[in-house]
Amino acid sequence: MHGDERAERIADFIEPLRVEPGSKVRLGRDFDPRDKAGLKKREGVELLRSGVELLAEYQQRLAAQDTYGVLLCLQALDAGGKDGTIRHVMSGVNPQGVRVSSFKVPSAEELDHDYLWRYAKRLPERGGIAIFNRSHYEEVLVVRVHPELLVRQRLPGHARGSGVWKRRYQEINDWERHLTDNGFKVVKIFLNLSKEEQRTRFLKRLDLPEKNWKFSAADVRERQYWDDYQRAFSRMLSATSTEWAPWYVVPADRKWFARICTAAILAHTLIDIDPRYPEVDEETRKDLRTAKRRLEQEAPEGLPADPYAARHPSAGKKKRG
Ligand code: AMP
Ligand code: MG
Repeated sequence: MHGDERAERIADFIEPLRVEPGSKVRLGRDFDPRDKAGLKKREGVELLRSGVELLAEYQQRLAAQDTYGVLLCLQALDAGGKDGTIRHVMSGVNPQGVRVSSFKVPSAEELDHDYLWRYAKRLPERGGIAIFNRSHYEEVLVVRVHPELLVRQRLPGHARGSGVWKRRYQEINDWERHLTDNGFKVVKIFLNLSKEEQRTRFLKRLDLPEKNWKFSAADVRERQYWDDYQRAFSRMLSATSTEWAPWYVVPADRKWFARICTAAILAHTLIDIDPRYPEVDEETRKDLRTAKRRLEQEAPEGLPADPYAARHPSAGKKKRG
């Protein structure tokens, strides 16, 4: 398939998942966790494979260009499939170019700083991809659902009044704007799981001994706050989907489908950046030729001046596109 056509197909595929900036989202009404865009699982697995290949290729170019970085934020309720999505979607990329950070209950040191501090410390470098398994959005999700967590943050009086959530949305939008303007793309994905599928996955963790380690009684307690979370997610999606960093709501009841969507959204971002291998200028090319001559002169008696070129007759002749 031609590159532009592929890019267009990816853009069309993810369009329905994008939260229109400024729109008011109500999760239960606007997004179906069971959706699979008419795909069959078999087709999906094939699509994911080509998506993973595409990501590997683009990640290499992103690293070589060393100008842009990408931050992928993954949010979901418990058992939403964040870990498996990361494992599958990033399975083809060079581990040196990716860093995954998981955010748990904040430490005493983290609580001793402003709420964005620990996330800022894990931002990507230029040329790199950072994945946040949970992200700064926990600060307007779990912290909003459990106000006692806000108390632990020891904010001064003027910062913890009733306007705190609206202000945090604004601060997060501003922070992401700053990152985007400086070359760091922010990609935000919410894996949207249904309550019934969460129940099934919890039970699976109980039923299969090799899954027992993943089960947490706390997750079942948290499930009691389901409606509060849906509300907090809906408000967060409405307030923080921006032109520079839109949210994507990915149907998550089918793991294979959630993975394709995530790969497609990330691919779309990288295609948009369109990173190129750096061009070598004439000055540098001269240096390369000098270095080549020097190495060729070091050839031992009876061996080819350039063993690589001898084995690859076309090397050095084709121009890089
Ligand atoms: P897990 O991802 O299953 O290891 O769980 C991590 C736990 O940390 C979840 O229960 C989150 O709700 C919690 N958590 C993550 N970020 C925060 C935060 N900023 N404040 C309080 N709890 C958090
Ligand atoms: Mg957990």
